[in-house]
Amino acid sequence: MLNRRNFLKTGITVGAGAIPLNSTLHGLNTPPASSAQSAPADIYGSEIKIVSFPPRLASQDQAAIPWQNKIRRVGQTNFTEYDPAVINVDQWADYWHSAKADIVFVSVTGILAFYPSKVKFHRHGKFLNNRDLFGECVTAAKKRGMRVVARMSPDLNWGDALEAHPEWAMRHQDGSVQYSNEEPRLFKTCMFSTYMDDYVPAIMREINSLYDVDCFYTNGWPPLGSLPDCHCSICSKLPASDTPAYWRVFTDRVLELWQKYDAITKEKKHDSFFFANSGGNVRGGPNLNRLGQTAAWFQADNQGRTYDDAAIWGCSLQGRV
Ligand SMILES: [Zn+2]
Repeated sequence: MLNRRNFLKTGITVGAGAIPLNSTLHGLNTPPASSAQSAPADIYGSEIKIVSFPPRLASQDQAAIPWQNKIRRVGQTNFTEYDPAVINVDQWADYWHSAKADIVFVSVTGILAFYPSKVKFHRHGKFLNNRDLFGECVTAAKKRGMRVVARMSPDLNWGDALEAHPEWAMRHQDGSVQYSNEEPRLFKTCMFSTYMDDYVPAIMREINSLYDVDCFYTNGWPPLGSLPDCHCSICSKLPASDTPAYWRVFTDRVLELWQKYDAITKEKKHDSFFFANSGGNVRGGPNLNRLGQTAAWFQADNQGRTYDDAAIWGCSLQGRV
């Protein structure tokens, strides 16, 4: 078998009757030959076939390439509730700049606001004290030539929002509210409810009105690994969860919101876009074939705490899918 190791070895042993390195490299610049050609016996004594490389792609006009296609390194530090009390923004920005990040994620977010948000039910963390941490980070990143992703988390919210909008919650079969397993004061928001149509866009528009961000991202939505099982008044009219029919309706809703959020990002900048966390290794939620026709950026953010058997290479498997 010709693998990388014995390719190099045979290429280098010119004169010992193996593959001449220069003729192999010659293939890089020539159109494909008619078909495979035979070579002398390889180091294992059997015939091997050499297949020419495909022709090089034509060079691209740099100005026509979308900016996100030129991104090579991404930096992400997710803030905690206590960070606004202690974080040194210049240190944060210097760190990512020294790491040569082209773009950084900055937490907006949906559960606790990291800026003095005026959107109703976008709760300020108890250490925020009206500090505009998000805005400071955007300014510091831009000053160093880095782009900014506004990172949101629309999957959970607090009791005051639930009281005002009981229709925003995911429900169990008995009608009771579904709460977060990690923080029982947070309820799970239903992606078919107006929470996603009204509340999330309100935050996006507020961010766009105040800051110079390059794109928007949601973590926590769409759900990963398994389809939602909600019995709210909207979802109880949908096909049962874990059926192909539900998967289609679920994908329809994901794409509807994805496109809606994408359009909101473009209200300010035509080259901005929305994308979401589609991690979960190869068990990503929506139909990836359909999503692939919409998504400007595919983010497989595998945080290593969701599945017992998550493999480090799952991310690249998912990328190939
Ligand atoms: Zn629901």
